Amino acid sequence: MLLDIHSHHLHEKPDTTIWSCSMKDRHSPDFSRAVWISAGIHPWFLSDNDMEAQIKWLESVLLSDRRVLAVGEAGLDKLCQTPFDVQQKAFNASIRLSEKHRLPLIIHTVRCFNELIALKKEVCPSQPWIIHGFRGKKELAGSLVRQGFYLSLGEKFNPETLRAIPPERLLAETDESHKDISALVRKMSETCEVSPDMFRTRLCLNARHLFFNR
Ligand SMILES: [Zn+2]
Repeated sequence: MLLDIHSHHLHEKPDTTIWSCSMKDRHSPDFSRAVWISAGIHPWFLSDNDMEAQIKWLESVLLSDRRVLAVGEAGLDKLCQTPFDVQQKAFNASIRLSEKHRLPLIIHTVRCFNELIALKKEVCPSQPWIIHGFRGKKELAGSLVRQGFYLSLGEKFNPETLRAIPPERLLAETDESHKDISALVRKMSETCEVSPDMFRTRLCLNARHLFFNR
């Protein structure tokens, strides 16, 4: 099964999508429609005032909802309005919960790769850390892979970067896009000059290993 590991839209087949949600989505009709979810505290939708409530919501979802496959998206973003210290506190809470519940962490990051690498070295997490929507250059991808990160690519992927990522560290996602994950994966396979079936199988194995066979 080809899994869309990070999406904010439920496509026609909700059972192949990890629907990414946060506290603000709890009353959305998709919250009940979703088959698999990742629950997190997004740095864009966070303030000092609601941080404690968001952490409590996340803790309760992780304890009670068996559809949860990952914590996230969570992370650090230097271009958003949320004060950086508030982002750091919420991200630290997400890391703690990912470890406690033994769930992979799906990470949103903008211009914080150095901080992220330093944090990973400091924490030495037992759970996989997945950077979602990665669009960076191949050199950055190389150093993230050396630090043990997984990279999830969406429709705006950098072709040169895609070719440089070891296949076993690669995932695919649609994020905000309404496009089909199969079409994206076909395009990725063409970029890598690998047969679409082989490429798809590799991504299925990666997702199964990270989210189901644990
Ligand atoms: Zn997202």
